[in-house]
Amino acid sequence: IQTTFIPLLGDNKDINGGVIVLTDITELRKLETVRNDFVANVSHELRTPLTSILGYLDTLLESDIEDQKTKEKFLKIIKEETNRLSLLITDLLNLSKIESQSFELYPGDFLKTFQKVYHLLEKNAQLKDININLEIEDDLPQVYMVREQVEQVLINLIDNAIKYSSSGGTINISVQKKSDKLYFEIQDNGIGIPVDEQERIFERFYRVDKARSRELGGTGIGLSIVRNIIKQHGSEIKVESRVGEGSKFSFYLNIAD
Ligand code: ADP
Repeated sequence: IQTTFIPLLGDNKDINGGVIVLTDITELRKLETVRNDFVANVSHELRTPLTSILGYLDTLLESDIEDQKTKEKFLKIIKEETNRLSLLITDLLNLSKIESQSFELYPGDFLKTFQKVYHLLEKNAQLKDININLEIEDDLPQVYMVREQVEQVLINLIDNAIKYSSSGGTINISVQKKSDKLYFEIQDNGIGIPVDEQERIFERFYRVDKARSRELGGTGIGLSIVRNIIKQHGSEIKVESRVGEGSKFSFYLNIAD
């Protein structure tokens, strides 16, 4: 609690009363902490690939590595880490754009958007021998949305379902109309998420298994982007999951009359 005293002066400029203003700054402090944590997290996430890049560059410059194969290996790592930095920055800029602006929703064709994303990611599933079952209702109505953002949500959710499934797995996707809403569900039979971490995965940079996510090219920002976008669409992203059995992510969009 922050206390401010505002004196009230009488005609002869004497203080003859006052107002004490008590301000609850808990929320402000919380916001400040969240912001500080965020800066610390970003710095850490950026520093990890940078340290690796600098280390390999130093080795290449300072030691006489004769072996062409070793040189190539080091250069490859430098390239991978640079790509990672670039992906991280793109994700962060996306998140910051989504968080700082509010968007106008327009009636749009969800199915068309879904199909575009599905064709993009279908190959990734095939490469892992993952089977995707689609259960899509006929004659779907238009929904209120920002097309590029819904595209981003679908990319992140489908990409995760593929990433966190073993080869030979199955993913079920359904799109259904219920009263005035369009429901989207994606269910995988992958590694699953422990119950006590199911809320935390939507936090920026939170990953159940950092090393695993990193290996799979993850940044830990995808689901925070999803949560933000879905919120801006007047809805909420939900997760149900069991370790070793799989996960289900779902959300709805409002039907445009
Ligand atoms: P990442 O870039 O690490 O995939 P996300 O923000 O997309 O970041 O997801 C955060 C974390 O949530 C992941 O690191 C992973 O631990 C967990 N996760 C997300 N989707 C799934 C899923 N379908 N199955 C299991 N775990 C998942």
